[in-house]
Amino acid sequence: MKIIMLGAPGAGKGTQAKKIADKYQIPHISTGDIFRANIKEGTELGKKAKTFMDAGKLVPDELTIDLLMDRISRPDCANGYVLDGFPRTIPQAESLEAALEKRGEKIDYAINVEVPDENIIHRMSGRRACLNCGATYHVVHIPTKVEGICDRCGSELVLRDDDKPETVKKRLDVYHEQTQPLIEFYSQRGVLVNVDGTRDMEVVFADIVEILGA
Ligand SMILES: [Zn+2]
Repeated sequence: MKIIMLGAPGAGKGTQAKKIADKYQIPHISTGDIFRANIKEGTELGKKAKTFMDAGKLVPDELTIDLLMDRISRPDCANGYVLDGFPRTIPQAESLEAALEKRGEKIDYAINVEVPDENIIHRMSGRRACLNCGATYHVVHIPTKVEGICDRCGSELVLRDDDKPETVKKRLDVYHEQTQPLIEFYSQRGVLVNVDGTRDMEVVFADIVEILGA
């Protein structure tokens, strides 16, 4: 079962990807994790990736695909995997498709977690973070015992710049421009599955399980 996750930043696709990985016993793969693992292990591909990252540049798509193909050829991916955060653009999706084709493989499901922008902006603006110990909360979903104070260390909580509406809006704009076209791309290939991501994450997951099979 080879799955990719689609959805806007903050739609909760990472959470669903983890739950899928747990239930179906397949690896949850993000390109960030692959970069870190290869750099840590000192592989040739990792060394190449590091030169770009050290220079503050994006790792080129071609190299990312090489790292990804290396990762999915490992034994733990024999029954499939969940890709989270890749591809993000049409050229990446096309390169991924071509690389998988060479292996005689293809993506089985592209799960699109749909959440309207306004909803995401609202969700994110409720997040609170402790800059002292790294704990994260949400004013509605994960409240602290004392409002505005970290349960763990007693420091004052802040709304991070990343979670501020103007920052979230910018990220959503990039998503709509670069990543949303993937919905049409995977729809044309007959593998797109839309799920309503506005509901409780367990309900969203139950929908996904129904589609993938128990
Ligand atoms: Zn704290």
